[in-house]
Amino acid sequence: MGDLGVAVVVEDDADVRNLLEAVLSQAGFEVYSAADGRNGVEAVRDHGANVVTLDVGLPDIDGYEVLRQIRQFSDAYVVMLTGRTEEPDLLTALHSGADDYITKPFRPLELRARVAAMLRRPRPQSPQGRTPAPAPAASPLTRTAEEAVLVHNGLALNRKTRSVVVHGDALPLTRSEFDLLQELLRVGGAVCTKTDLVRVVRGEEDRDDTYVSESDERAVEVHIGNLRRKLHEDPQSPRWLQTVRGVGYKLTPAEHERQEIHDQR
Ligand code: CA
Repeated sequence: MGDLGVAVVVEDDADVRNLLEAVLSQAGFEVYSAADGRNGVEAVRDHGANVVTLDVGLPDIDGYEVLRQIRQFSDAYVVMLTGRTEEPDLLTALHSGADDYITKPFRPLELRARVAAMLRRPRPQSPQGRTPAPAPAASPLTRTAEEAVLVHNGLALNRKTRSVVVHGDALPLTRSEFDLLQELLRVGGAVCTKTDLVRVVRGEEDRDDTYVSESDERAVEVHIGNLRRKLHEDPQSPRWLQTVRGVGYKLTPAEHERQEIHDQR
């Protein structure tokens, strides 16, 4: 196995496939490839991929369908390669559970930057990816493992198992959704700008000098929208994720704090 785990390249264009294979294996991944969608799904399953690059236009089933099938058994870090530049494609990719996207044609340098972001991801707990983790109890006892479990308004996020439980039910999240939620919980009620959050998704939270485009920020908005849908947030009165208009997002105050604010009135 490569030092960094397994990468699977799903791409029908041989030139692009060779380039992706070269960059990923140079980076330290053990690389497998597939030239169509069905073989791609099988390769991801058979080799327990940690990272997947996925072309949208494939000869048999399209990249969105491949992604849908992959997401039924894997939480691999998925980068979509889209041949078109229109925004709806990007939005569709992120809505379908992709972690990142690259628009073709791309420069090898850009691909290396995305690979560098993948390298900063924590390794999955099991080679097969999505294994139901034991549910952390949202009780004061979890405070003894304060570093590992973040608890807020009935939601418990376990940083070690990378699992989230809401009122006792496991909440399946993509890696990017998990990272965003973790960051908002970690900083408490502090405001996170969209630029901050783009860097969190890329694993660059320690840096303030990297380029963040408008479409990167748009991607964060989509991830947050997906999170809200999964959390069944009430837009009028969110329990966890508040929009700070024109800036970014912050955590809704803890329920007992809101009660105190209410009592003082
Ligand atoms: Ca193609």
